[in-house]
Amino acid sequence: MSLASELLNSSFEKLRSSLDEGHVTSLELTSEALRRAVESQSKINSFITISDTQALSEAAAADARLKGGERNALLGIPIAIKDLILCKDQKATAASKILKDFVAPYDATVSARVKAAGAPIIGKTNLDEFAMGSSNETSFFGAVKNPWDLSRVAGGSSGGSAAVVAARIAPLSLGTDTGGSIRQPSALCGITGLKPTYGRVSRYGVVAFASSLDQVGPMCSDALGCAALLEQISGHDEHDATSSSQQVPKFVEECKSFRETGNLRGLRLGVPREFLTEGLDSQVEQGIVEMLETCKDLGAELVEISLPHTRFSLPVYYLVCTSEASSNLARYDGIHYGYRSEQSSGNLEDVYSRSRGEGFGVEVRLRILLGTFALSSGYYDAYYRKASQVRSLIKKDFIEAFGKCDFIVGPTSPTTAFRLNEKLNDPLSMYLADIYTLSTNLAGLPGLSMNAGFDDRKLPIGFQMIAPWWQESKLLGMAALLEKHRNETTPISPLAREYGELRS
Ligand code: GLN
Repeated sequence: MSLASELLNSSFEKLRSSLDEGHVTSLELTSEALRRAVESQSKINSFITISDTQALSEAAAADARLKGGERNALLGIPIAIKDLILCKDQKATAASKILKDFVAPYDATVSARVKAAGAPIIGKTNLDEFAMGSSNETSFFGAVKNPWDLSRVAGGSSGGSAAVVAARIAPLSLGTDTGGSIRQPSALCGITGLKPTYGRVSRYGVVAFASSLDQVGPMCSDALGCAALLEQISGHDEHDATSSSQQVPKFVEECKSFRETGNLRGLRLGVPREFLTEGLDSQVEQGIVEMLETCKDLGAELVEISLPHTRFSLPVYYLVCTSEASSNLARYDGIHYGYRSEQSSGNLEDVYSRSRGEGFGVEVRLRILLGTFALSSGYYDAYYRKASQVRSLIKKDFIEAFGKCDFIVGPTSPTTAFRLNEKLNDPLSMYLADIYTLSTNLAGLPGLSMNAGFDDRKLPIGFQMIAPWWQESKLLGMAALLEKHRNETTPISPLAREYGELRS
């Protein structure tokens, strides 16, 4: 096996030190990442665009910087970016027909920061159309398949970003999380993904779905890689009024020092009664129970807590997100952006309705209709306003819970990866895939998903940890400590193993 190939299948820390010590170059790593990207397309379909020429020249530039003695956590490390985050002069489709030929005129702040750090961007990853979905099956470009089992979904909406990391194509990827879209696919693909506190990361240049919920976050096969990426993309941005001016912690350093403590003594982990109930797969529950035992062995105290309004999070989320989406997606009208129907008579209303009717997929149209209804006069008070009020109660539950514990822990998703097409025609069962992740977004809290072992079919189980606002450092530190305690190396999907062997 070539060294580059071996390193893509190892930990972020090992990869970082090998680059810094000159054992491997960014060009070697990026070439191997691109080779895997191209070869995996027919199997898992995780990319919408692969940017080989550009990535190779970025890799050469990174090597020059490394040779010159420059060091930073991302320099030279290949990354993939979800295709609703703009990268200048590259397509940004949001996996929709309506934007299928749209070329980004500028960089999103997160893309600019990744570029400034010198991480070669190998491509733009597949997602559910406009990030609406939990299985990556609503993409105009076809479903993403799970590297652990190609007959199953990768989760969504950041399914491409999760699959790319699980297949060890790129060590890092960026996703977005509006209701669980980083954490749920991370769980289903056996990787680590973090949704930061709302306001931690700029949303400038990210195609808006539900602006009061959307956050960009890091995905990697381990916590330290997530820490490195989060550190680079966080912080105030004058282009996004909701981005916070809170100081950005040294996530990498803090993550490492937490790991070094080697125990969880003095920490109280709250297990919400409402998270371990009906609908939770018994093998997922078993995985979570074992993870909690590990935490106890490491000195943590488990406390039972209650988040009584959790049962409203699904209806509240679907009213808030559809309302915001109906407003955000009004800009795609066949005039300003993207696809214009060729059937239209030229009459303005006809251009609008045909372009939108043909350009948006079923799930997106369904949500626009629902959101428009919820915001319409006469219904606003009964739906949108009511949902906003219950949202405050959900947040209040968390404030009370954090009086009794330091972290909230439980499953990320009620099941492991389900079969392709299994839930596509049953929206409610699809929506329930996010039952444990939605309330975190409604409250604006940071949440992380990491691997908690496997079910009988060898499918990954996701463990979720939620921290108080702005405490991502502790989440990452705890994940790093648990990883160290649980396995020597992070799990390697069968597809990634195949790539390693191809070059041996
Ligand atoms: N699955 C959820 C939805 O469809 C969450 C999506 C997301 O976080 N982008 O709305």
